[in-house]
Amino acid sequence: MTGTPEVNPVIDPEIPAAVMPDKGSKLAVIGAGAVGSACVYASMIKGVAREYALFDINESKVKAEALDIAQGSQFAPVSTVEGSSDMAVIKDADVVVITAGAKQKPGQSRLDLAGATINIMKDVIPKAVEQAPNAIFLLVSNPVDVVTYAGLKISGMTPDHFFGSGTVLDSSRLRYLIAQHCGVSAQTVHAYIAGEHGDSEIPLWSSAIIGAVPLLQWGETVDGRKLDESLREAIHHEVVNSAYSIIEGKGATNYAIGLSVAQIVTTILRDERRVLPVSTLLDDWMGISDVCMSVPTLVGRSGVGRRLVPVVTPDEYRGLRASADSIRHVASKFGM
Ligand code: NAD
Repeated sequence: MTGTPEVNPVIDPEIPAAVMPDKGSKLAVIGAGAVGSACVYASMIKGVAREYALFDINESKVKAEALDIAQGSQFAPVSTVEGSSDMAVIKDADVVVITAGAKQKPGQSRLDLAGATINIMKDVIPKAVEQAPNAIFLLVSNPVDVVTYAGLKISGMTPDHFFGSGTVLDSSRLRYLIAQHCGVSAQTVHAYIAGEHGDSEIPLWSSAIIGAVPLLQWGETVDGRKLDESLREAIHHEVVNSAYSIIEGKGATNYAIGLSVAQIVTTILRDERRVLPVSTLLDDWMGISDVCMSVPTLVGRSGVGRRLVPVVTPDEYRGLRASADSIRHVASKFGM
């Protein structure tokens, strides 16, 4: 043996590109508050993407949130997490989730938030589109239907690539409550809330199913009650008021919306073609047009596709039309 050790042939900086792993997909989240951070956290745990980028104007907060999540990455599918106050961090993202906004204060309705949030969108969306022109955009900031409608116009994008999380969270809350009352898992309940993500939303009871049984024919609940109109009304009331009571108790709702967003993004990136009640621009859906609101919608890698037409009662249909009018009324106040 002479003095110089042999170079280990395994440590070769010239690894051919063909054996390097695929870059994978990139999820960007704008707004590193309670909701934005939970979206990244839930997505990272579920392995939704390979790269996560978090953007916020509050530099110390966004860096801290990203670092806190990244330091747990050993325990989740392989990924990277970066946080920055420079919009370039979201460059070439496949999906951009927008959660930046004014926070909903106790007692404040989602519609009260509209003006402040639309102004944030006028600043953020053009810069985000410039960095990630091929991304699918998912709006979460409230009031989500009005802000999605405004954001779509600001972005100049097509409605299939720009939509809101809508009533995906509300439908999850509805399924959770039905599951509790009926003693089944939420996964076996198929029920949708449609219309506004907010006070005028409509539970589509007549198309709800548990397993193969229409919900209206389910029979007794676990505590021996009937799923009659008064119990259904109580469940509806609880869904609508969940956000208010959670905000009252802890200042924000974030975990369930984080999981809802992780599900929507998974559906997009893996082209799962799930039916989700996302908020999209409607064009003669059951006679309803020129409003962003939630109806059961096919979602996949090319964004949103067909809006499904469920079985509805005359009352449910009237409620959906009223919900559309209520969203349009607020949008018109902001010159939309
Ligand atoms: P938060 O106050 O904790 O976070 C908002 C973040 O936005 C802050 O970190 C703030 O610095 C950032 N921000 C403000 N202006 C910005 C800008 N111009 N660019 C980048 N970042 C900016 O609020 P939160 O609890 O995270 O809620 C965020 C939004 O999500 C609210 O509008 C809330 O109502 C909404 N929300 C929606 C749903 C839903 O189902 N759609 C559910 C829960 C909350």
